[in-house]
Amino acid sequence: MLVRDRYQEASKYQFRHLSKTIVHWFLTLVAPIAFAQSGSEELREPFRLMQLEVSAGERVSGKLLVNGGVDGVETFIPVTVFHGRDSGPVLSLIAGIHGSEYSPIISMQRLPELLDPQAMAGTVIIVHIANLPAFQGRSVYFGPDDLKNLTRSFPGKVDGTVTERMAFTLSEEIMPLSDYLIDIHSGDGNENLRLSYPAYYAEAGGTEVVDQSRRLAVAFGLETIVQFSGSYSSLDDAIYTSAQSVTRGIPSIDVESGELGVIDDVFIDPITDGALSVLRELGMVAGEPIVPANPLFMSDRARVYSEYEGIWHKNMLVQTGD
Ligand SMILES: [Zn+2]
Repeated sequence: MLVRDRYQEASKYQFRHLSKTIVHWFLTLVAPIAFAQSGSEELREPFRLMQLEVSAGERVSGKLLVNGGVDGVETFIPVTVFHGRDSGPVLSLIAGIHGSEYSPIISMQRLPELLDPQAMAGTVIIVHIANLPAFQGRSVYFGPDDLKNLTRSFPGKVDGTVTERMAFTLSEEIMPLSDYLIDIHSGDGNENLRLSYPAYYAEAGGTEVVDQSRRLAVAFGLETIVQFSGSYSSLDDAIYTSAQSVTRGIPSIDVESGELGVIDDVFIDPITDGALSVLRELGMVAGEPIVPANPLFMSDRARVYSEYEGIWHKNMLVQTGD
């Protein structure tokens, strides 16, 4: 073989080799990217909440760290996030703003077992216990470390005491991701309440927010709906959880179900059923919401203060709800 022929032969070999290499590269590098791209038309972007990342169709539980600040009290907010396979709104469900209100906390432990992110549209953020120090310290209304009420502490402060830092985490990390929000309470350890009801701000947040908040309240499926009056001129004025949320333009409701630290299905089930009904109303899970035919809207609320100091004993002449 002439040198030139050899050279050509070598070139042919190199060309064939190079061709094979290119084909190999294509198959190993380019093709998977192309296939992944055609597959990504079905899979939407992961959902991110602080350090948590949740792929479409997945559920992830984790802790949102609240750093030890001026008071050195470090804690965390336990959450579970369901990121549905299909696109849809983000609904946040918050339990345990008051740490001794157990029926919301138990309901938010049960709800995850009823949700399937593969068959869901949108995203659900479940806050299991917003105020872990109060839960662990078994305190009523107030955090045990700074004696502050979390739902009087919004929007919170990044450099405040632990209750203010928890409020800040909810305001700055959860609320900006939320399209709808439900803040779930019961009567605290000392509170006797009438039967379960949702409540919404009938004047705060603008017409669209009021309409959508009312929609959530009705879709929660209970016969009595409470309307809060008043609105807030700034985020600093909106010290309650749902007031902060509606002032940020997020349709929101409060729910009350339970009392006196009692754990009973009669209080827990209406919360779980109501949350599922709202998920149906928002098109996030299949099915129709349970909507009461003629809910009773209660807007007049009054406080009656005793003229006497002492201990209140249950009066058999006047029952809760009378
Ligand atoms: Zn409460």
